[in-house]
Amino acid sequence: MLIFDLNNLFAMDTEAIVIRIKTPSGDMDSSVDCPSLLNFNDLLVAIRDVMPEATVTAFEYEDEVGDRITVRSDEELKAMLSYYCNTMNEQRMNGLLPDPLQIFPRAGKTPGIRNIHGLKVQTLLYTCMFVVLQINAQDIHYQEQLGHGNGGTVYKAYHIHGKRVLAVKVIPLDITVELQKQIMSELEILYKCDSPYIITFFSAFFVENRISICTEFMDGGSLDVYKRIPEHVLGRIAVAVVKGLTYLWSLKILHRDVKPSNMLVNTRGQVKLCDFGVSTQLVNSIAKTYVGTNAYMAPERISGEQYGIHADVWSVGISFMEPLQLLQCIVDEDPPVLPVDQFSENCCLKKLLILEINTEIILINTDHSFIIQYNDGNAEVVSMWVCRCLEERRIQQAQGRI
Ligand code: ATP
Ligand code: MG
Repeated sequence: MLIFDLNNLFAMDTEAIVIRIKTPSGDMDSSVDCPSLLNFNDLLVAIRDVMPEATVTAFEYEDEVGDRITVRSDEELKAMLSYYCNTMNEQRMNGLLPDPLQIFPRAGKTPGIRNIHGLKVQTLLYTCMFVVLQINAQDIHYQEQLGHGNGGTVYKAYHIHGKRVLAVKVIPLDITVELQKQIMSELEILYKCDSPYIITFFSAFFVENRISICTEFMDGGSLDVYKRIPEHVLGRIAVAVVKGLTYLWSLKILHRDVKPSNMLVNTRGQVKLCDFGVSTQLVNSIAKTYVGTNAYMAPERISGEQYGIHADVWSVGISFMEPLQLLQCIVDEDPPVLPVDQFSENCCLKKLLILEINTEIILINTDHSFIIQYNDGNAEVVSMWVCRCLEERRIQQAQGRI
């Protein structure tokens, strides 16, 4: 008899899971936003979509002792999700990042008799599930340019098969094929990043001497284009940034480029970090063409010393300061201060303290009263502010003022 814990399935409503479809040509990861809505047929159709040459009628997963269990119905699918949810919770309790749910498609004996063109991926599944590895250059329709940085240019784009708007960063890189391969393998960790505070990575590919990195599009853009941010909004943004960084550090990833243009917001009130340095090779290759100094860099980075998560914390502090009257004084002088009558104490900029304490104390520092005060998950505040600013910008543009 199948027993599954409904509480688990309700819990699954709140977080996305990653399903890894093991195919003969490699793994295919899919992020499922609302697992409790997933049904057996939807998943089967998605499997067939990535394995059109086989006739798949069922799939298997492995239990804790490695025995394969077949899934052929909605009931068996629920049992699998419940089992996976338990495993995921256990892994989390042991401080581990949950492994994706691995499934092994079972091909029938009569390949080729199906009308492949007749297959349709149901809309419901596609709103819940996005096959991340299937983005090809020819499937992307570029729309307007969103911005241009030191490394490359970011475009708003539309992915035809996924029916999804993307942000695609295109970086010209004159490097060897070996280095290209190295970058691609270093970027693989991005598929594992699964946090509401980190931009979702979909795919990356090289076309000639350009790499395109496809991520989630954030309709509010980056924080650098916003004028003064009121403290009750900034507080919620800071909480999201700290949570995003804490998540990255838990994966042993340093952001290395924390600054307002790498903090993105959307009209749903979400705040997400982007452009973190997971690929040393990519960072190095871009650095060769980089001009100027980054005002958000911690003193130890500017002076070329070793650096760790303290450097990210420093950049958070600088990012939330206004005006930025800094740079040359950062290494030698006292940390800059905010006008006390308008802002709470900026806890990230205690230069000596931050530079001398260890990781644990920094993490305790994220329990700072400023963070606690605004850690209420109130996305509405950010959402309303983003919508208001976008509307103001639209009116100004219509009046030809910007
Ligand atoms: P640098 O190259 O020094 O990191 P930067 O962050 O400003 O500077 P890019 O990373 O190339 O440069 O980004 C350019 C702009 O594109 C950003 O400032 C932001 O406004 C926009 N942008 C980047 N990613 C997204 C995204 N996922 N959604 C919406 N807008 C984005
Ligand atoms: Mg950027």
